[in-house]
Amino acid sequence: MSDPLSRFAQRWAVESPETAMTRAVRHLAQRAGHTRAPHPLVPAARALGARIYEENVASAVLRVEGPPVVLVPRQPWRTWRRQRFSIAHELCHLLIWRAVPEDERGALQDPALHDELERLCDLGAAEILMPTAEFSQDLTTCEFHSAGLAALYDRYLVSWMSLMNRFTTVLPSAGLSLWRLGTRPDDPHDLPRAVASWGWSSRTYIPPGISEQHLSRTMLSTALNEGRAWSMDLRLGFIRGQPTVAAIACPMPGARPQQEMLPLWVGRSVPDEPRVHAHAVLAVLDGQDAEATLDLLIGDRPRDSSRPQVGAAAQC
Ligand SMILES: [Zn+2]
Repeated sequence: MSDPLSRFAQRWAVESPETAMTRAVRHLAQRAGHTRAPHPLVPAARALGARIYEENVASAVLRVEGPPVVLVPRQPWRTWRRQRFSIAHELCHLLIWRAVPEDERGALQDPALHDELERLCDLGAAEILMPTAEFSQDLTTCEFHSAGLAALYDRYLVSWMSLMNRFTTVLPSAGLSLWRLGTRPDDPHDLPRAVASWGWSSRTYIPPGISEQHLSRTMLSTALNEGRAWSMDLRLGFIRGQPTVAAIACPMPGARPQQEMLPLWVGRSVPDEPRVHAHAVLAVLDGQDAEATLDLLIGDRPRDSSRPQVGAAAQC
């Protein structure tokens, strides 16, 4: 064990850098006083002795010559939601940097380590902003419908990209996809087509470009007409053998008007995320726990007595 990520794992007395990152982030969250989302990043930076400054930089960057500083672009490249993720990502670089002995830190610049390091810091950033336990609990209380997804979006203050990705991390058997009408000029106007997907490592990944005609039920069209659709026995026609899976779909939550300004970014008003060009979202669930997960996400089906009561649902 001599590479820097092994050093990081050693620091947290665990086998893998991923587990080390989870531990490091949870420890940081405690020190920062994080309790309930949205989780602020200035206290997290302060707990590490770091500051966050706006600067004329192209993208967020960590400087460790002297007291650590996270520099973020004056003009957010995308949105303040993405900016929050970038800051959390840089704080994770700092967690790793701190855990590696000084004379070995040079190895962190090794290009061969770059992708692994980035993936690890993305994982840590998601854990800072959307802690696994809290996010899992919120999935049960907010449920899978437009208002529930919007509640998660507003509570965690992350981008839709991050939220969807987190969904498939917390529920590893789930594949999530966004669907849009009128994607191709020669499509019927009411034919939904997948335009973005998450959970690529699951068997339930839906490749973008697939139309609803490849599903055994009109999940998306039904959801668009009725507000939600679910199925215990959806078949995916684009996979050989057409596996039977559980699935749930709902309309994509409405975007805020782009002109609306939110006073959330370093004391100034900034525009929120632009409109997401999707009409509906589909979660496909596979594996032994698929049915139980679907039950959990639907919420209004009869529940068995082992399921926790969801008194917090009114908050959503
Ligand atoms: Zn990075």
